Amino acid sequence: MSSGVAAQHGLVSSGTGGVWRVLADDGEEYEATLRGRLKKSDTGRRADGSMRRDTIAADAATMKLAVGDHVRLERDVRQHAWVITEILPRKSILARRAPGGGHGERVIAANVDQVIVMFAAANPEPHPRMLDRFLVIAEANGLAARIIVNKVELVGEGAVRERFADYVRAGYDVHFTSVKQRIGIDAVESSLAGRVSVVSGPSGVGKSSLLNALFPGLGLRVSDISESVNKGRHTTVGAYLHPLPATVGGAVVDTPGLREIGMWELPIRELDLCFPEIRARREACRFADCAHVAEPGCAVRDAVQRGEISAARYDSYVKIRSEIESEQTI
Ligand code: GDP
Ligand code: ZN
Repeated sequence: MSSGVAAQHGLVSSGTGGVWRVLADDGEEYEATLRGRLKKSDTGRRADGSMRRDTIAADAATMKLAVGDHVRLERDVRQHAWVITEILPRKSILARRAPGGGHGERVIAANVDQVIVMFAAANPEPHPRMLDRFLVIAEANGLAARIIVNKVELVGEGAVRERFADYVRAGYDVHFTSVKQRIGIDAVESSLAGRVSVVSGPSGVGKSSLLNALFPGLGLRVSDISESVNKGRHTTVGAYLHPLPATVGGAVVDTPGLREIGMWELPIRELDLCFPEIRARREACRFADCAHVAEPGCAVRDAVQRGEISAARYDSYVKIRSEIESEQTI
């Protein structure tokens, strides 16, 4: 180390600007700052699934480092400080768009493999319309989504399965679990293994209980952030990435950042792409720009009428659509 600099790769685990925590290849976690000028390569996935490769100015002010980023870390031995000098290419992002589109998006996490949305069968009562909103956010980012329904022992698994049958039909993987009775949690573990998963859902459904049951010592603070405290605020507390044990691989990202759909600036014409069962039929509508609300010859509404698309899911589509409409015309 005659140059006075040591370098290694790392994974960003938390931080909100300023100081970042980075899990380095040597097994240690360091605090690091972003170098003023970075080598850049910023890629991400659009809502339609295509890859985006931006050539944006690579200074720290515009380059949005996020939890889940893989970085090159350099240590300035004289200053005893770690500096992030490069953000490695991303395979995906979970991001909120800037109002009106453009480059101001806010990246909540990078290199996410899936979004896991967790609800309880009861206590608290599940809220399917809220579930639909979480799923839309995942779809809008081109990310796979998986659903966990916990506390099934309170209601009985048969009744819960019936209640969530629409989601299985729409093509989602749904896990029915009871942390309390250790039902279904091994399958959850296999679906987390080797992947970076954003775990979301209302508080009180058992997110920390589940993750602590699977991985004791993870130190989750999922339930620290109460929904009511953060509700309506636009300043979100940053995401945290918790690496899973090396024998399992992967990580879970805990973020309070998925909530109101209005904050996501989803273009209204892309909403039908965010419902897999609607997406599968939209090509058959008479009009290419069919909104699936009142148009004649709408294959989506026909499918709802025939019971091939769940009326409840369609209802969510219509509600979210009118919310976006009223927000975007203000
Ligand atoms: P979080 O806010 O989503 O992280 O939820 P917690 O993990 O803090 O759990 C909320 C409450 O639900 C706690 O009292 C847990 O003991 C309880 N809980 C977790 N899993 C189950 C379950 O499978 N069945 C029942 N009946 N209660 C559970
Ligand atoms: Zn239509």
